[in-house]
Amino acid sequence: MDTLPHPVFPGAILPKWVAAAEAKGFDIVGRIIDRLHLALRCRLCGATQKVRLFTLMSAQPLCQSCLLAEWRKDAEAAGLTFLRRDPAHRHYAFYLAPCGHEVRRQFELVRRIGAGVTGFRCETCHAATETGEAQTRGWCLTSADPEGNPNYRVYTHSDCGHDQRIVRANMQSGRFSCGGCGEDWPGAASYVYAMGFTLASGREVVKLGFSRDPDSRLTYQLRRDSEMPCQILRVVPMATGHTALCAEKAMHKWLRQAHPDAAVDPHAWRGQIRVKTEIYDGSLTPVILGLLDDLEASATVA
Ligand SMILES: [Zn+2]
Ligand SMILES: [Zn+2]
Ligand SMILES: [Zn+2]
Repeated sequence: MDTLPHPVFPGAILPKWVAAAEAKGFDIVGRIIDRLHLALRCRLCGATQKVRLFTLMSAQPLCQSCLLAEWRKDAEAAGLTFLRRDPAHRHYAFYLAPCGHEVRRQFELVRRIGAGVTGFRCETCHAATETGEAQTRGWCLTSADPEGNPNYRVYTHSDCGHDQRIVRANMQSGRFSCGGCGEDWPGAASYVYAMGFTLASGREVVKLGFSRDPDSRLTYQLRRDSEMPCQILRVVPMATGHTALCAEKAMHKWLRQAHPDAAVDPHAWRGQIRVKTEIYDGSLTPVILGLLDDLEASATVA
């Protein structure tokens, strides 16, 4: 009894209780707490636990320590580590995945993973993979498909801010076009460009970007107000959209490092220019044009 933190309850142990306990894999250690409870010892693992007399007589009591051992074994077979039960749902527990993330799974599902019936996929890692896939193409993974199709996601084009439902496989292969800016998939020729705008405040700003069609990009997509003064300052043709994208990204990165204060606060241009990437102060225009000169020289050599 010293293994149980419960007071002993004096009184006889009836032979039918002993018989029921034995039939169900337990020995009665004694009566505890009140007339309704017994201490039972599991014949399989030797652990002692509190069980209601009613449960013993009317059902199969479960040994909590055997259950725990089973959950741990199931987890191990599935390549996971059992952490703890989910107090909010008796069919669920938390596990440590091999990647180090904590996941919540149903016991039954973990058994099926261990049996090889189904696979395991960490949703955190998977989300990171999908985010990376999208970023490579210049898009952001924004949400699950609102129409509930598991093959689709909603992505946002980083360059133009357009949201679009795209099949994930197409995002992986790049075989889609942006409905916002009409940029074709990265196999097609493209241009890196610099555009100058005069904001409503009178401030001059410059945008660096890439597009398959800079003219229509400027005319139809970037400007919210067709009266806003703007012009294409320079375009550099690139063999593919992908090389254009990479070149543009490298230039933004360089500009961020070399001129950390030149990016204009988005509040200054939001509502006037339709983009989500950096817009730079007009004073940076000569620097950006210089970068495009260098790019053209290297693109021509290659
Ligand atoms: Zn047991
Ligand atoms: Zn993970
Ligand atoms: Zn776009």
